[in-house]
Amino acid sequence: MTYGVHAVPGLPASVRIWEVGPRDGLQNEARAVPTEVKAELIRRLVAAGLSTVEVTSFVAPRWVPQLADAERLSALLPWHEGVRYPVLVPNMVGLERALAAGARDIAVFASATEAFARRNLNRSLDESLATFDPVVGTARREGVGVRAYISMCFGDPWEGQVAAAAVVAVTRRLLDMGCEEVSLGDTIGVATPGHVTALLKAVGDAGTPSERIAVHFHDTYGQALANTLAAIQAGVTTVDASAGGLGGCPYARSATGNLATEDLVWMLDGLGVATGVDLTALAAASRWLADILGRPSPSRVVQALSSPAEDSP
Ligand code: MG
Repeated sequence: MTYGVHAVPGLPASVRIWEVGPRDGLQNEARAVPTEVKAELIRRLVAAGLSTVEVTSFVAPRWVPQLADAERLSALLPWHEGVRYPVLVPNMVGLERALAAGARDIAVFASATEAFARRNLNRSLDESLATFDPVVGTARREGVGVRAYISMCFGDPWEGQVAAAAVVAVTRRLLDMGCEEVSLGDTIGVATPGHVTALLKAVGDAGTPSERIAVHFHDTYGQALANTLAAIQAGVTTVDASAGGLGGCPYARSATGNLATEDLVWMLDGLGVATGVDLTALAAASRWLADILGRPSPSRVVQALSSPAEDSP
C-alpha cells in the first residue's frame, strides 16, 4: 500500500543505502547464526534491491565468535553486477584474510574519542589511526575500496559531549590516509537533528565534500530518522541502515540500536527519494530472519506491514 509521494525541496534525487545488518546486526546475536542462514539473508537483501551489503568482519574469531565464519560466508556470496560486499578489517592480519577471501571493499573502524579508542580498540586514538595507515595503503594499492567508520561522533558514554573539532580532525586524517568515504556514527544514539546539521557543516567547512561522508544513526532515543532527514538536507547521500533494525550497541542504554532499513526506505519512498529498494521484499526478508532468530523485528515499518490492521479501512 502507498500513501503518495510528498517531496520536500532541496533533497537529493537518490540515496545509497549501505546495508549493515549481516555484519553490524548479527555480530550482536548471542546465539550462533548458521553460515547458510547468513548467506540466504544476504541473497534476500540483494534481491530486494540493496546494492551495498556489509557482510562480515575479519576480526580475530575469539573477539566476535559470531563472525568467525567470515571465510566460509565470503565463498557463498552471490555475484551480481554492481553489488558490493564490504567487510570490516581491524588490522593487517584481517586485511590479508579479507583479500584472500576475495573482498573488494573493506571498512576500518576508528573513534572520535580517546575513551572509546582505549576501551574498544585497546589503543590510544593516535595508535589506532597509525594501525590503519598500512591497512588503508595496502588495500588501495590492491584496488580495493576503503571506507572508515568513526564511532562516538555525537556523544561518548565516558566523555559525554564530543566536540565537532575532534570529529573533523579524525575525518581529515582518515581521508588523507586514503579512505574514500567516512561514515560518521552516532554509536549511542544521542544525536538530535540540529547537532547533525552543525556537525556536517563543520565537516564541510573543513573542506570535506558531502559525497565523501556517510551517516550511521542509532535509534536508541528515537531520533534516527529525524537525524537522517537533517543529514540528507545537508547533502549527504549515503545512509547506513540495518534490515529489520538488527543489532544494537553494547554501550548504549537500551537494546534499541541500528536504524532499520525498512523505516528509512518508508521515509525516503514518501519523500520521493529513490533507493532502488523494494520495501515489501525487504520487510519479508526481515520477517523471515526474525522467525529464525525467534523474536520480532524491532522495526516499526516491519511491524506495521505485518499487522492485519493494515488491510482494514
Ligand atoms: Mg550500528
